[in-house]
Amino acid sequence: MDSILDRPIQYLPGIGEKRAELLASEIGVETFGDMLMHIPFRYVDRSKVYKIAEIGEELSTQYVQVRARVRDKGIVGHGAKARLALVVADDTGEMDVVWFRGARFVMKKLEVGREYIFFGRPTLFNGFPNMAHPEFEPPIVVEGQEPVGMQGIYSTTERLSSIGLGTKAIYNTMRTLWAAVKDYIPETLPAYLLEQERLVSRVQALHDIHFPPSAEALNAAIRRLKFEELFVIQLQLLGQRKVRTEKTQGYLMPKVGGYFNMFYREKLPFALTGAQQRVVKEIRGDMVSGHQMNRLMQGDVGSGKTIVALLCVLIAADNGFQSAIMAPTEILATQHYRSIMELVETTGLRVELLTGSTRKKKREEIAEGLLSGEIDLLIGTHALIEDAVRFARLGFVVIDEQHRFGVMQRAKLRLKSQGLPPHVLVMTATPIPRTLAMTLYGDLDVSVIDELPPGRKPIHTSYAKESHRLRLFGFLREQIAQGRQVYIVYPLIQESEKMDVANLEAGAEVIAREFPPPDYTSVVVHGKMPAKLKDYGMELFKEGKAQILISTTVIEVGVNVPNATVMVIESAERFGLSQLHQLRGRVGRGGDQSYCILMTGDKMTTEARHRMEAMVSTTDGFRLSELDLQLRGAGDIDGTAQSGQGIEIKVSNLAKDGDILEYARSVAERILAADPGLQGAENVLLVAALEKLNRKKKVAVDLSQIS
Ligand code: ADP
Ligand code: MG
Repeated sequence: MDSILDRPIQYLPGIGEKRAELLASEIGVETFGDMLMHIPFRYVDRSKVYKIAEIGEELSTQYVQVRARVRDKGIVGHGAKARLALVVADDTGEMDVVWFRGARFVMKKLEVGREYIFFGRPTLFNGFPNMAHPEFEPPIVVEGQEPVGMQGIYSTTERLSSIGLGTKAIYNTMRTLWAAVKDYIPETLPAYLLEQERLVSRVQALHDIHFPPSAEALNAAIRRLKFEELFVIQLQLLGQRKVRTEKTQGYLMPKVGGYFNMFYREKLPFALTGAQQRVVKEIRGDMVSGHQMNRLMQGDVGSGKTIVALLCVLIAADNGFQSAIMAPTEILATQHYRSIMELVETTGLRVELLTGSTRKKKREEIAEGLLSGEIDLLIGTHALIEDAVRFARLGFVVIDEQHRFGVMQRAKLRLKSQGLPPHVLVMTATPIPRTLAMTLYGDLDVSVIDELPPGRKPIHTSYAKESHRLRLFGFLREQIAQGRQVYIVYPLIQESEKMDVANLEAGAEVIAREFPPPDYTSVVVHGKMPAKLKDYGMELFKEGKAQILISTTVIEVGVNVPNATVMVIESAERFGLSQLHQLRGRVGRGGDQSYCILMTGDKMTTEARHRMEAMVSTTDGFRLSELDLQLRGAGDIDGTAQSGQGIEIKVSNLAKDGDILEYARSVAERILAADPGLQGAENVLLVAALEKLNRKKKVAVDLSQIS
């Protein structure tokens, strides 16, 4: 099918080869159709012209247009630092206008004494308005062009702007594009759906989103495009889930036998919480359903997910199946191994640990034990799925802290043993808001452990500046004198890794000075260290031989030292909310009052301050993840704004469009219930929409094939 929408963007008048290349690399626009989906991120009222005197705090950083005459212009500075400075004025006041780039080029285009419309975001400097890099044009009404009311503001990049594709130019390009494509935009949703949901046609929606004739029309356009985007994804996810739950066979594990009973009665060191019991039941339900389980277990840090997973491992063993537990790091795998070994001691369950540093001889032994079926539970890192590890009868797989594992890796599990695919339990301590979970994991069933074991004292959280550091040290001394231990965590962010390590080392020196041996022992652990040294440091801390652990975020997930009661997070403003929450979850695991202290720089953005305040205000992970989503938008949460299927989400904002998402999901459910295979003639367009979606997938894994 050849459509004008598939035509390479370079053939659009005014674009050409060079711009096309940058459009592709900068914003992923390759075709006419892609460009059409480059949707304004907001709108300004271009019919309104502001007076300079009107520009105050409330207008600064918004897009405005000002009609003003150039009083003076000149190049200031030399060479690379040369900038163009302009003084412009209207009858109410003066404004400075500057260009830091392209100064000479712009200089030629602007004449002193002439009037222009300047369009940009003003800022106030010492109370004086000032605009950098505005777009400008003479105030002439172009014949034949509709008077512009609301105009879209398009996102662009510095490099695109530098080759003449600023937001205004993109707007103009869009007009050219629209003239070329407007007669060739097919409807993509069935007529009955448009009618039922009162949605405007696709062609109408696309016109109005780029060139809104009114606010109502714009809202209708946005609603239609968001609904469609989310609806098609939900249709896909629900369809896959249907295939899995109705067609894919899974191992039956009906028996609750010796392993489980003995452990439950004799070894379990505490009573399960209500939430733990409920989740065990949910998993058991899957194990006797005859279908393969794909379940996400969400539970805040410290909610006791490991025990739940272990109980299910025991049920699998009772039914003659092997299990595997995968952790994201070697430290965690080792820790799981140790704590599980301690728990299952004397039950007869055979457990092994396999990581990157397992010796060759041991490796071979493990390989043999897995194939003979002697090993009941294998614990390890990615190595479990990356390596040629083969099981006799793998029936149950637990993936801990799933955000480090992708769809691809889940897919590989299928190959681990012959027979049916194993049941999969994905555990995450990163609570995911409902809307996001529906999109990222809409194909999984979800269990939630929403209750902490009894007797935990809420962690006391505060934030402090550099000037409070001495008081902080005093507090740490007090805690250590009471026999407690302390974590001090530094950020380590890829781009500035060197600097971050330097910060950590400088911090460690200060600590060594303030907390000198032999009274105190502090250890340093970071990702760049050899594994041996790292493990040794962790070990000292775990055994209580070191009171202070200074580290990067290697301790972020899963490390469990109940005697540690203080978590100090350095440069806390550089961490995201969910990461801060994860780190805080390292303390408060024993019976003692615990503390989390967020050390911040003297200057913080408003957004960073909101993050600190959110941390102080609640310890509820779900509440925080909702706040996080609102503060950062959905894009950053999982790295990119993608659904779990590797599908890009362009129009919708998962942080804000929860209502539309839930609604779209319910519509998708209704349609699939009426026509499970989408075979009805009225649903032909939906089948086409799903095919298109699958062609675009970045991760080419079709879960319905795997499971
Ligand atoms: P997470 O959900 O973060 O993985 P863990 O499974 O590591 O949590 O459990 C945290 C701590 O709580 C462990 O020391 C564990 O033994 C303990 N724990 C788990 N469940 C209970 C319970 N029902 N009662 C008391 N302590 C529990
Ligand atoms: Mg855990």
